Amino acid sequence: MMTRNEIRELAAFQADENKGIFAVSFYFQPDPPQDRSHRNQAIHAKDVVKQALKEAEGKGKNGWLHADLDRVMEVANSLRGHPRGRAVFACSAHKLWKEFDLPPRLGTTNVYLQPRLQLKPLAVLLGAQPALCVAIVDRQRARFFDVRLDHMQEQGALVHMLSRSAANYGFKGYEAGHAERRIADEALQHFKAVGERLRLDLERGSWERLVIGCQDSNWKEMESQLHPYVKQRVIGRFSADVASVGDEEIRSHADAILQKWITDRGRSKAEEAINFAKANGRGVTGLRRVLRALETGEVQALFLTENYSARAVECTYCGHLDAHIVSACVACGRATRPLNDVCDAIIPLAIRRDIEMFYPRGHSELDHAGNIAALLRFRADQNRTGQIAAAS
Ligand SMILES: [Zn+2]
Repeated sequence: MMTRNEIRELAAFQADENKGIFAVSFYFQPDPPQDRSHRNQAIHAKDVVKQALKEAEGKGKNGWLHADLDRVMEVANSLRGHPRGRAVFACSAHKLWKEFDLPPRLGTTNVYLQPRLQLKPLAVLLGAQPALCVAIVDRQRARFFDVRLDHMQEQGALVHMLSRSAANYGFKGYEAGHAERRIADEALQHFKAVGERLRLDLERGSWERLVIGCQDSNWKEMESQLHPYVKQRVIGRFSADVASVGDEEIRSHADAILQKWITDRGRSKAEEAINFAKANGRGVTGLRRVLRALETGEVQALFLTENYSARAVECTYCGHLDAHIVSACVACGRATRPLNDVCDAIIPLAIRRDIEMFYPRGHSELDHAGNIAALLRFRADQNRTGQIAAAS
């Protein structure tokens, strides 16, 4: 499993381009499960690496790169029939070799040879992924799971044993009503304990969003015991029975709820950014303004159409990014270098600064707004007194 720190480290990586050093980023996307032969993917992965080896020869004397690609080729060969995605980041000149098993949602199998690591497939996958908690609850039991990507880990359980008096009451006559009340009361205590644990874990930062699995008949009562802050963070619920639900079922329900939530959130936040931009508020559109907002540290969330790409230049000295193709940096006057795709510089920057990234599909407003937009925490130019308007 990939941690945020690991991703940040990858985003901070930069090979020494002046010495002609390039890093290798390899992504393996398996065939859909209905294609059982798995021949296509294996052949395709090999071809892609072979092609990269040719490209490496074109980059001049580069023993390191060749060795890295040979090693990537071994990985590609071993992935025949592998049902999951794989990412490899390599640059032996800088002692880098990282391999990650990932959900099979990486787009295509591909190799990139660049001074920076190619993180776009990863950004698409991880950009807006919250730390997710899944709680499976009934009237006596609760199980808690941590979900990061499609990796799920149980984080303990709560079991409320019925007290002796409640369990031993007969279900007849006068005592029956008494016993039922007692059991109902104990269920309430249990839901309270579940609500309390969720609140504490949220405060500790153990999770950011919550999915609940419980039987429909218990939901109202459970919900009433959730702290308002916890309730705000519930992104969905599914019907499940604690005793019989399997890990795979939990994972697939949670994943479906999460994917829908991310898509909906991306769409509505992008719309918000575009509307704010029109009102000269907390939003900007178009590459030039987005780059400026990134440099002033105003960006909270970034929106890119799926295949967005644009040329730009980057200052070799101060790192200033410019949508105008100028040979001298406007900030410091040193030489710039061309970027075929400005995303290669934007994505690592966004990852390092914990900026949420969304790639909304078929978003016509975003298309019309120049295919790139950002939601801002504040507007530097409107806060000259030093006051910072809090982000809602
Ligand atoms: Zn500069």
